[in-house]
Amino acid sequence: MKNELVWEKIKMASSIGIAGHINPDGDCVGSCLALYNYLQENFNEDGKKQIDVYLESCPKEFLFLKNATALKQTCAPLIHYDIFIVLDSGSIDRIEKQAQELFYTAITTVTIDHHISNTSFAKVNIVDPKASSTCEVLYGLLDSKKISKEVAECIYLGIVHDTGVFKHSCTTEQTMIIAGHLLTLGVNSAKIIDETFYQKTYVQNQVLGRCLLESILVMNGKIIVSTISKRIQEFYKVGAEDLSGVIDQLRVTQGVEVAIFLREENVQEYKVSMRSNGVVDVSKIAMFFGGGGHIKAAGCTMYGSVYDVINNLTAGIEHQLGKEV
Ligand code: 5GP
Ligand code: MN
Repeated sequence: MKNELVWEKIKMASSIGIAGHINPDGDCVGSCLALYNYLQENFNEDGKKQIDVYLESCPKEFLFLKNATALKQTCAPLIHYDIFIVLDSGSIDRIEKQAQELFYTAITTVTIDHHISNTSFAKVNIVDPKASSTCEVLYGLLDSKKISKEVAECIYLGIVHDTGVFKHSCTTEQTMIIAGHLLTLGVNSAKIIDETFYQKTYVQNQVLGRCLLESILVMNGKIIVSTISKRIQEFYKVGAEDLSGVIDQLRVTQGVEVAIFLREENVQEYKVSMRSNGVVDVSKIAMFFGGGGHIKAAGCTMYGSVYDVINNLTAGIEHQLGKEV
């Protein structure tokens, strides 16, 4: 019911803003561009609507998506949008500062998401924590007969990334049915999977190797932790987008329940990524420290020495594991 209301508002709107979270991943870029392209193709044939999409950046492997270069970071003067739609973000502080301002000054606000930690911060909240990805939630809102090959590519890319190429347990029959339909629209599956997910630059592989080499096991091998300092990131000239595969490789270590990856962003400031193999709900731990995410994949920012950060996180994990035995 509420979804029909959103489509009514979209039809009536003369300006629509779209935004996704900072440090955008495949699901974020995929869902933002899928919605942007779908609206341009089906609701803006005469070009009278102003439709903008705000994203911090676009990782270069996603630049083949239609309109990937149309992304904006800021606007001046401030635009008061009729409708502002936030994708793949569990809370409003996940989007960039000016995008937050655009959200607060918009007439109607919508969030489309799949994070269990979503705080329902918009007027209309379309959140399905059982969905593999925001792209899957978005697909459910679109008229499947009006999805072009270009929109299909965006959605397919988002699903591929958030399911880890259909291997994470968030992958359901519905996910596969959607992916199957997208293939019929002409999506080149092998190309998207290889060139946007598995392919790494030489230096990305070097850094991955280094993070694995320096990882440590704690709690009888139930937790694996790896850290990368700012100095090492600067030495290899890598950023967050180059390190996204590290946590997934740590997680598949035999015997591990939880993988933790700490990326030093500033002195005594760490971006924390966590993955669980099922027993521990890492979203609870991330939320406790001001972050969020899903049961099996969550993150937050923590302050203090690396030892303090690890001790605080492992205490939370130990507490949950303790309840299991
Ligand atoms: P990743 O480890 O890939 O950065 O993030 C895993 C999941 O946790 C993603 O779904 C992401 O949205 C969420 N997440 C990561 N960091 C934060 C954070 O600082 N705050 C919130 N609310 N969610 C986060
Ligand atoms: Mn997502």
